[in-house]
Amino acid sequence: MSPLPAWPPALSEAQQADLAHQAATYALANGFTLLPVPPKGEHVPAIPTQVIAAPLSLLPTPFPRPAYVQAKSIQRLYNALYARVALDWEFLDGIMQYVAPVDDFQAELWNRWKAIRDEIKVTQPVQLGIFRSDYLLHEQGNAVGEKSRIKQVEFNTIAASFGALSQKASEMHRYLSEQTNYYHVNPQLHNPNSFVDNHSLEDIAAGLAEGFNAYGNSDAVVLFVVQEGERNVFDQRALEYQLLKRHRVKSVRLTFAQVAQRGQLDDDKVFWLDCPLRGEQLEVALVYYRAAYTPADYMSSAEWDTRVLLERSTAIKCPSMALQLAGAKKVQQVLAEPGVLEDMLLGNARPDVGFGAGPGSLGARDAAALRETWTGLWPLDSSEEGTKAVQLANEHPERFVLKPQREGGGNNIYRGDIPPYLAKLEEEDKSRPGEAPRREAYILMELIEPPKGVHNLLVRGGEGTPRLADVVSELGVYGVALYGGKVTPVNREAGTLLRTKGRESDEGGVAIGISSIDSPLLV
Ligand code: ADP
Ligand code: MG
Ligand code: MG
Repeated sequence: MSPLPAWPPALSEAQQADLAHQAATYALANGFTLLPVPPKGEHVPAIPTQVIAAPLSLLPTPFPRPAYVQAKSIQRLYNALYARVALDWEFLDGIMQYVAPVDDFQAELWNRWKAIRDEIKVTQPVQLGIFRSDYLLHEQGNAVGEKSRIKQVEFNTIAASFGALSQKASEMHRYLSEQTNYYHVNPQLHNPNSFVDNHSLEDIAAGLAEGFNAYGNSDAVVLFVVQEGERNVFDQRALEYQLLKRHRVKSVRLTFAQVAQRGQLDDDKVFWLDCPLRGEQLEVALVYYRAAYTPADYMSSAEWDTRVLLERSTAIKCPSMALQLAGAKKVQQVLAEPGVLEDMLLGNARPDVGFGAGPGSLGARDAAALRETWTGLWPLDSSEEGTKAVQLANEHPERFVLKPQREGGGNNIYRGDIPPYLAKLEEEDKSRPGEAPRREAYILMELIEPPKGVHNLLVRGGEGTPRLADVVSELGVYGVALYGGKVTPVNREAGTLLRTKGRESDEGGVAIGISSIDSPLLV
């Protein structure tokens, strides 16, 4: 693998301004957009009249081709692994019994799911996963990018976003390259194959259509469950447009509160939506959650009741409650324990998902291919390993990140903040004698060290002016998995996402205003 090229190319101020202008107009014209942050004290308007360009990079960021190819090539193994986890009730229960006493959100999700299981087993055995496995490059050589390896940050099983905007970022960079020729400073980059052919929007929409078709009623709809005041609407809408245009599948977009008002189960547990404006009742074939992953989405038990109502229905869920639980960071850590991954992916006794997992189809080499992408993960429980981890975190905090069972960014504790944070948790434990220590709600993870010396021109949403930044890029690979019951199983890789942030920031969420949506320039 060759070192990453010096980047970005030397552009005059006038060239930068021209690129920024062209990027902004391209983004606004092509739905590479977000809703603007509403003025203080106001809400996102009911009928939007303004958009801003999504946070973007003016140029793609160099990324080692072998690492990119590798990340894509193992996605189907990851799909198989997490599909298996979601079908393995005993495995999930074995983990959640330790998480629940120290994490109210996970407890509610797990307990509600168990209650459904006890009452009705399952009404819909088919599950749809739209996943995203996230990686950072880990620097191992001396020259920039010389020996970078992908290391997994996390595996998302619910509301994995930016598939649509990511395809638009790739398309924008290709357009800017062709239109301006500014990128072609390095002969290596003349090659049009340096740009990725990324179809994440189309591939994810195709996955949703496959889930819809598995239900078996072409007059039914896909229900998008979304957050109140969502600004990332065009990433979601683009999927709806694609579903209708390409697959002739209709969708309805509602918040939890609206679903509660309009939805009901009939005696056969079919989920019906009352749509008075359309003068009809619509049957829901597939529930696609772009909400429901954070405690803030459940203001009261009413939202949990709505979640349960949907879960109990015959609609296919993307994801099911079990699949959401499978995406917990604690599951990631337990899979990394000796032998656990191997047993889950290859073991005879584990549930059959109908594709590429289990004896005969996969082997030790496949499990090793996944393990190769992992970095140090430790429990913080009372086991010997857990006690060792606490000591390690206190002695060498600069090597670690502490993660709770949360999604959506902005929840982790980094480096020097870890020891005082652990001390605070221990202090809190004193007021809850006899209960499990609060630190058990977290996992400890080794920090991945991305290559240094990579720069790019980033533009924040709504600002327009580029900022030259020392950057770190996080690669996401999407996956689609349809399995369970008698369905013809689907297991596909579904495109990629590159989010690029300034090195000074530990977190990387686009939604929380830190990252730009980027695309890789394969070198
Ligand atoms: P979330 O589910 O909230 O997105 P993540 O595990 O993805 O949680 O962590 C959020 C961000 O924190 C990541 O996007 C990445 O920028 C940073 N991060 C997480 N784990 C690591 C790690 N092991 N090394 C370096 N950075 C990390
Ligand atoms: Mg996540
Ligand atoms: Mg993440």
